[in-house]
Amino acid sequence: MSSSGFEPTIFSRIIAREIPATIVAETEHIIAFLDIAPKAPVHVVITTKDPQYQNVVELAAGNPALLAELVSVAERIAAERTNGQFRLVFNTGAAAGQTVFHVHAHVLGSQEPTEYLG
Ligand code: C5P
Repeated sequence: MSSSGFEPTIFSRIIAREIPATIVAETEHIIAFLDIAPKAPVHVVITTKDPQYQNVVELAAGNPALLAELVSVAERIAAERTNGQFRLVFNTGAAAGQTVFHVHAHVLGSQEPTEYLG
């Protein structure tokens, strides 16, 4: 358990630069990096530096302004890296595929104009 009372996740170790990641955006509160196992031609993970929210439902209830900032960073990354159409995915719960319990979004997209990512 960390001094802040939250069990550090692998994302906390990326934020602390304890393990490598290709970081593509960073603000005071948010960090974004290339997914290590991409599921689309463009696959970026965007997470909060604050580890206290395990999923998007907790974040929306606890700090909606931070959720809005996360979505804004996602929009900027998508504008820079995709054809402008993208999926913004928040896996919520282990049965839904969530493996890291530190709120994060996936930006999934392509630079190709017609590639379908459904
Ligand atoms: O939504 P979920 O919790 O499954 O997403 C976690 C994501 O974090 C996975 O897509 C995984 O590939 C990614 N990951 C990463 N780098 C790590 C550990 C996990 O990009 N060191």
